[in-house]
Amino acid sequence: MVSSGGLSCGAHMTPHEVHLAQPTARPPDYHHALSAARHRVTSANQWTESQLMGRRWPIGCVALEITQRCNLDCTACYLSEHSEAVKDIPLEELFRRIDLIFDHYGPNTNVQVTGGDPTLRKRDELVAIVRRLSQKRMRPALLTNGIRAKRELLVELAKAGLVDVAFHVDITQGRKGYGSEVALNEVRKEYIERARGLPLSVMFNTTVVDRNFEGISEIVEFFVRNCDVVRLASFQVQADTGRTILGRRSDAITILSVQEQIEKGARSSISFDTFRVGHSRCNRYGMIFVTNNKPTTRLTIGDCWRRSSLACHC
Ligand code: SF4
Repeated sequence: MVSSGGLSCGAHMTPHEVHLAQPTARPPDYHHALSAARHRVTSANQWTESQLMGRRWPIGCVALEITQRCNLDCTACYLSEHSEAVKDIPLEELFRRIDLIFDHYGPNTNVQVTGGDPTLRKRDELVAIVRRLSQKRMRPALLTNGIRAKRELLVELAKAGLVDVAFHVDITQGRKGYGSEVALNEVRKEYIERARGLPLSVMFNTTVVDRNFEGISEIVEFFVRNCDVVRLASFQVQADTGRTILGRRSDAITILSVQEQIEKGARSSISFDTFRVGHSRCNRYGMIFVTNNKPTTRLTIGDCWRRSSLACHC
């Protein structure tokens, strides 16, 4: 349940890898895109039996930014300082982009409906965007800080075809009344209840910064306790990008040290090589099975009772 949005583990791509990662020409169709992805992954020495990119999809996911406006002002944010002045893209243009994504990457592509906070769009427009993605047989996910993602909206979006909802909650957001990362579990709990019982995969995103690094294991414990609803917990190490005011993170925060915090919270070792989506230095996933309230990465037949799974992305 850890995620990093870039090569933040301290190991950088080689010039040869950077060269391979250059944008390529638009593929004529989904099948060409799939084989091109396979070729790129192979060239980067990432083609293993567990590699999904180039096998199941031509791309891990596509971000569809539908507004740059946001109702929070996080101290770590990838948007630019001028984002609040950027006008929303018209709905027709978003539909054109959705069609383009489908033409490039085909059915089942994961599309993150993101921002800013996408719930700041007019409600009927947000629903129409999700419906369009679903009608195209792609998999829409809503990435939100959750403030406006009330139960009624989630119900409506699920009916329109939403597949995943990813709530961003962490200490960088300066939510009033919450002085620590662990205190924010109250907000997380409220969001879990909003989504409970809906046909949605519920995810949580956390930016790992100096101030919450030590608290990561405790929130992992929280996610394990709530794995009947929470499907994926993603941890992104702080990056000095966009309008972030925190600067560089401490050297103590690396993909490896975050992984150790996660394993401490899960009270179990986790294989982060169970499956891959793209380059292993870009993002890593680990699976935990929780049986009888106890996390494990190994299962026996007797474990099938009361089993839930939780993925970790870093
Ligand atoms: S990180 Fe997300 S929630 Fe925070 S200010 Fe930026 S867009 Fe808004």
